[in-house]
Amino acid sequence: MHRPTDRTAAPELTLDPADWEGMRQLGHRMVDDMLTSLRTIRDRPVFQPIPTAIRASLTEPVPRQPQAAEAVYADFQRMVLPYPHGNIHPRFWGWVVGAGTPLGMLADLLAGGLNSNTGFGDHGAIHVEQQVIAWLKEALGLPKQNSGTLTSGCTTANLTALTIARNTHAGGDVRATGIQDAARLTVYGSVETHSSNLRALEVLGLGRRAFRPIPTGADHRIDIDQLRERIRADRGDGCQPICIIGNAGTVNVGAFDDLSALADVAAAEGLWLHVDGAFGALTALSPRLRPLVRGLDRADSVAFDLHKWLHVPYDCGAVMVRDADRHHDAFRMSGAYLAHFESGLASGPINLMEHGLQMSRGFRALKAWMTIKEHGVDRLGAAIAQNVDQAAYLARRVEATAELQLVAPVPLNIVNFRYVPVRLDGPVVDVDRLNREILAALHQSGVAAPSHTALEGRFVVRVSITNHRSRQEDFDLLVHEVLRLGRELDAQHPEWSS
Ligand SMILES: *Cc1c(COP(=O)(O)O)cnc(C)c1O
Repeated sequence: MHRPTDRTAAPELTLDPADWEGMRQLGHRMVDDMLTSLRTIRDRPVFQPIPTAIRASLTEPVPRQPQAAEAVYADFQRMVLPYPHGNIHPRFWGWVVGAGTPLGMLADLLAGGLNSNTGFGDHGAIHVEQQVIAWLKEALGLPKQNSGTLTSGCTTANLTALTIARNTHAGGDVRATGIQDAARLTVYGSVETHSSNLRALEVLGLGRRAFRPIPTGADHRIDIDQLRERIRADRGDGCQPICIIGNAGTVNVGAFDDLSALADVAAAEGLWLHVDGAFGALTALSPRLRPLVRGLDRADSVAFDLHKWLHVPYDCGAVMVRDADRHHDAFRMSGAYLAHFESGLASGPINLMEHGLQMSRGFRALKAWMTIKEHGVDRLGAAIAQNVDQAAYLARRVEATAELQLVAPVPLNIVNFRYVPVRLDGPVVDVDRLNREILAALHQSGVAAPSHTALEGRFVVRVSITNHRSRQEDFDLLVHEVLRLGRELDAQHPEWSS
């Protein structure tokens, strides 16, 4: 029953600011501060440890009472701002991490303001995402009719693609029965395949052992003959092969499988071809590098990231699927409350919540849309090619330096090397230990942040360049510092010799 309003009661609660003008000023200050921080990032260390007192204040209990927005921002400035991940710095070359851009940051601000849920509907954000997907297909040379969606990253993109592959090739109605009645399903990819794909197989109920790791040649590309051989042997053993995973840019060295050859095998064997191109697929944006992804357009699905080599702020990945119906079938939802409408807010060109696991989903498309508009794909491709040139430059410097050893080929943007003391007749040195210590000291100094990996059982320093802020002088400094630290540590620690 409707009751008249009690005019003496306090006004209803809202979470909007009482002082809009103050919020406006605070917002301007935040934008100013962050742009200054980005502009001057080169002057600060790439990494600094978080002091104990700050760590402690980050374990305080939940606030029960309101605090002024200014005070909350002051906490951010004191506790968070000085301790970034490091990837916005020009000398961050660890793992595979993008650097972001100022306009991408501002796009996130706008998206936060709109606060659109892109799961469904006929509103601006849905059409922006559709345009981003269309642009990415065009830029990567993928067929126009592919369906696609943005994801939280390449892990989710791989999981999405492998779900569709499983549902398509397992036989029967996997969504209804699971894989309990399915034969032993098997999936193929090189030994260099990223572990996110294996985790997807675990989540999908196939298990990690469904993955058949195929050896690579010295070039780190999948051995096609051994792939064919293994598929044949598995069929002989009563297994049911369903999918081949091709790598466009392996995480260890940046190698590309021969995607055309994989597409031939997949076609001949009736298998799904999925390509994990987390960063490598974006080489299609550079006319010079594009031949690396020849055959990408023949894949049944392609997964890649926008937050790595396209520098869209975290997080943003994408998956493209050749068969739009299969894509939709894998994630279709039931529920009268979700039924699509002919017109108005509940209509729209595509139900994005039925093209991936997320139902509610944010407006991550805006930062991609604005990044692509601001730079254009040609310039984004040129920044990628610049990183590849920088890797070649660093590799040449390593090769020209007696104490540095290049440990793997450099087909793209990743340089793996070690410091090895030059001694004519000294004791054998624990080179792994020495390089571990060099890397730790390098991180602690805040000068540069490569990461590491193991290649043929050896610890190596791994410089992975997906950074539009890096300059040639940064790599000169890296070489200089590694030599300085290597010599120093080698002299201080003869006990590392065995
Ligand atoms: C980074 C990466 C992934 C995982 O992507 P996320 O965006 O971190 O989830 C998968 N494959 C390769 C080759 C990668 O480099």
